[in-house]
Amino acid sequence: MPAYTAPLRDMRFVLYELHKGDAVAALPGFEEMTRDLVEPVLEEAAKLASEVLQPLNASGDLEGCHFENGVVRTPKGFKEAYETFKEGGWTGIACDPAYGGQGLPTSVNMLVEEMMSSANLSFGMYPGLTHGAYKAIHAHGTEELKAIYLPKMVDGTWGGTMNLTEPHCGTDLGLMRTKAVPQEDGSYKITGTKIFISSGEHDLTENIIHLVLAKIPDGPKGIKGISLFVVPKFLVKEDGSLGARNGAACGAIEHKMGIKASSTCVMNFDEAKGWLIGEEHKGMRAMFTMMNAARQGVAVQGLGVAEAAYQGAVAYAKERLQGRSLSGAKYPDKPADPLIVHPDIRRMLLTMRANIEGARALGAWVSQALDFQTNSPDAQARQDAEDLVAILTPVLKAHFTDIGFETANLGVQIFGGHGYIRDHGMEQLVRDARITQIYEGANGIQALDLVGRKMPAHAGRLLRQFFHPVSEFIAAHQNDEQLGPFVQNLAKSFGRLQQATLHIARVGMGKPDEAGAASYDYLKLFGLVATAFMWARMVQVALPLAGTAEDHDGFYKAKIGTARFFFDRMLPESGARLSAILAGGKSMMEFEDSAF
Ligand SMILES: Cc1cc2nc3c(=O)[nH]c(=O)nc-3n(C[C@H](O)[C@H](O)[C@H](O)COP(=O)(O)OP(=O)(O)OC[C@H]3O[C@@H](n4cnc5c(N)ncnc54)[C@H](O)[C@@H]3O)c2cc1C
Repeated sequence: MPAYTAPLRDMRFVLYELHKGDAVAALPGFEEMTRDLVEPVLEEAAKLASEVLQPLNASGDLEGCHFENGVVRTPKGFKEAYETFKEGGWTGIACDPAYGGQGLPTSVNMLVEEMMSSANLSFGMYPGLTHGAYKAIHAHGTEELKAIYLPKMVDGTWGGTMNLTEPHCGTDLGLMRTKAVPQEDGSYKITGTKIFISSGEHDLTENIIHLVLAKIPDGPKGIKGISLFVVPKFLVKEDGSLGARNGAACGAIEHKMGIKASSTCVMNFDEAKGWLIGEEHKGMRAMFTMMNAARQGVAVQGLGVAEAAYQGAVAYAKERLQGRSLSGAKYPDKPADPLIVHPDIRRMLLTMRANIEGARALGAWVSQALDFQTNSPDAQARQDAEDLVAILTPVLKAHFTDIGFETANLGVQIFGGHGYIRDHGMEQLVRDARITQIYEGANGIQALDLVGRKMPAHAGRLLRQFFHPVSEFIAAHQNDEQLGPFVQNLAKSFGRLQQATLHIARVGMGKPDEAGAASYDYLKLFGLVATAFMWARMVQVALPLAGTAEDHDGFYKAKIGTARFFFDRMLPESGARLSAILAGGKSMMEFEDSAF
């Protein structure tokens, strides 16, 4: 397995040099989150990731989870690692202090989540799902429900899950069959089968708090008739201790391609006792308020796996000796040159690196906006931040998870046959990364969300939250002596995005299939331009420092070098994306179903 060292230098750069993280510490509620406090948190998280979680990644994959008589055992070492995680307070770092959390800003938590995902994606699923369930109860539960469940979810004694998917309904939740029958005492009896439920059953926590979507009989049809319920594995007594076992049980675990140490369960609810969260039939609305955070969490999983693959590939490319440089031996004292001298290997490494650093910068920008959305005292600033988060979330989810899979794949390519066999751990990263493109709304659905919901929302108001800062930056810097050429390149691709936006708005209005056909290329074009904006801004920060005494480790020089590769070799893809969009959807939609 490749060793993992958290990229703390780059994380500090995006947080404090690029995005001015100190501004977050000026927000009410985050006053204590100064750099002095945040840096040690990141350093401790880095240690936990490389010393506790990463050593279990390959063994967890090999062993997987065990299922016997309704009980799920996680792989060897996971229980102990979870105890360390819990004892260290990591389960509650981004939770409300009112329930025992540490109230860390999302922008810092995102970096911690990246480290966990790089080290051990499967392990991260357990606290990750708990955090999703915590957020739903926190945002929509009654004070009573919050008091019963949140403190123990925050301190990690209890876990959590999200139960949406059923055998016949994944994307189309309107088809849901799970029923919730109201009882006289105000509770509901929940009956139905859910599949693919992450952390549905396991041995890490004393209780598991399931959040379940179900339909109350005689409610509105389809998606408008769905409600959200909290259904604990063990009922909780008035004094907070555990009572009888509820009618919620794991029927089987899935045998799957990757994240094998994460239990993916079939959950049978048999008249299980549950309590409504939020209003009847408004379950989807409750889910949607958490969707941005959950989708960003999955985006970060993609980024985390990409970083792990990059680190493995760089180490191997420097050490593996094969062939000679095309321009003559670079290491004549050795029997051959290391892989890193070859242009094609450098192409792959720089593609990985430019995608990762660009994504980290973009993710940090959006997660900082989330902090303003939740904690700014200024209503307009909150709205602006919410708009930016809304437009960029589908882009992050799909683009970063595509990057995760593609980067893991390039990692295997750099290892050659040694990447395809198990020993080096590179093939596991490909298998693990693959699910991130599917769950929490498959990537094609993210593209539809961007084009069908976010783009037209409020007459384009969300789009403007992204377009305006990019336009202003271009206007201010396109003629700068050193930064100018980068910005001119950004301007060219931004023009393509604007052209694509107008085209889709025009043709999509009367022909929804045209908008659907353009949606994925549009999302990728959006991701490229947003990343280019980040790269231009990173160059702006790096230019005055590159080559100075402050650049003793060559960090800023390498930033500019990576930016050059991105603008020269990767951003031209924006032209191809625009061409595909303008070509329209006829070639796919007029193709006869029977001819497939
Ligand atoms: C390992 C794992 C863990 C999971 N964890 C959870 C969990 O914790 N909780 C939970 O509830 N679920 C979970 N899921 C389920 C996951 O969220 C679903 O698999 C996903 O939402 C897709 O649903 P589906 O598999 O039924 O695919 P389908 O909905 O059948 O979709 C199949 C394909 O068709 C595309 N498609 C569908 N509808 C449209 C459309 N209208 N337009 C264009 N394209 C469309 C999709 O993008 C997808 O590519 C998990 C799944 C896995 C494999």
